[in-house]
Amino acid sequence: MAATLRSKEPRVPVRPSPTDDADPAPLIRFEGVSKAYPARGGSAPVAALSGIDLSVPRGSILGVIGRSGAGKSTLIRLINGLERPSAGRVLVGGAEVSALDERALRQVRARVGMIFQHFNLLSSRTAADNVALPLEIAGWTKEAIRARVADLLALVGLEDRAHRYPAELSGGQKQRVGIARALATKPDVLLSDEATSALDPETTRAILALLKRINRELGLTIVLITHEMSVIRAVADEVAVIEGGRIVEGGPVYEVFTRPRAEITRSLLAGEAGHGLPPGLAARLAPNPTPGAAPVLRLVFRGPGSDAAIIARLARETGIEAAILAGAVDEIGGEPFGALTVSLSPGPDVLARARAFLAASGVETEELGYLTQRGEESHVA
Ligand code: ADP
Ligand code: MG
Repeated sequence: MAATLRSKEPRVPVRPSPTDDADPAPLIRFEGVSKAYPARGGSAPVAALSGIDLSVPRGSILGVIGRSGAGKSTLIRLINGLERPSAGRVLVGGAEVSALDERALRQVRARVGMIFQHFNLLSSRTAADNVALPLEIAGWTKEAIRARVADLLALVGLEDRAHRYPAELSGGQKQRVGIARALATKPDVLLSDEATSALDPETTRAILALLKRINRELGLTIVLITHEMSVIRAVADEVAVIEGGRIVEGGPVYEVFTRPRAEITRSLLAGEAGHGLPPGLAARLAPNPTPGAAPVLRLVFRGPGSDAAIIARLARETGIEAAILAGAVDEIGGEPFGALTVSLSPGPDVLARARAFLAASGVETEELGYLTQRGEESHVA
């Protein structure tokens, strides 16, 4: 079929796709996937995942976030065939992983690397020999292995630790070995199951930066699961929020961070800059107005021009004063984002008037409730 687009510019070859507006063949696809673990020793069966539809474009980073027990590890283990779905299909690069026999699965697994929270290194092997393991299994020659391992250790910045044993390495270094090992067979996909959860914040940042670089330089598709929004924010392009085995919210990271809808997403975001209130203030927030209580609004600024001068304009143009309770101006994936939580001076219709003014200025608002006066909350209780 002839290309429908014409341009004087030389065109990059277009991947064949059934129609021009079709989803450009995602590398990973879940179609109506459910997973139940059978009943064991008197305990009821567990519906770990229900009705999961998901597609991960080649070269992107998908973050999957949820609380403990939400089904994250089950989801990731379906991608490399460590688990099989009870219903639905899981496709990786066009192959239906969920229908392959063990032999065919081994081939898929060479295309899918995985890293773990506790690194899973062999303590009896040096860093270099841990990285070499998948290549030995794949039948590479000694010389080819030596060259490949040297390249991989250089990629993760561990040239000088090649002959150290895991016990001689820091947590961050162990995870770098884990990453080098996962990349040994040149996979298309890297799966990360809480890979930074055992690391301190600074090491976490360094490992996430390494994953981001690998994604960019090698075009590797990454699916990363975590219980921390800061991890999602640092690396992911898209996020899926999972709760009770279902995806309750998903989309581009910037969208989900600036317009969270699900309760679980809001609560996972509560510790992030621009979200949530200091505990002392949160305790004074009531859902309904009481005499003297000040309405509380959260203002969200998206895109360029995000700034707090709006508070001065609100006072000048409407006479409504807003006291800043919490706030942050920041960037998510290079896009500016700001959030301010304010309490409004009491007065007739302040809430409606303030919201109308802010909406006309392009600022999104959300009502959080009413701030009771200090001490009042103890009467309520
Ligand atoms: P997460 O990684 O988000 O903590 P999991 O995918 O590990 O969640 O677990 C989801 C649910 O499935 C939990 O209720 C867990 O107890 C259950 N589960 C996980 N693995 C098994 C298993 N092998 N057998 C039985 N139940 C399991
Ligand atoms: Mg898990």
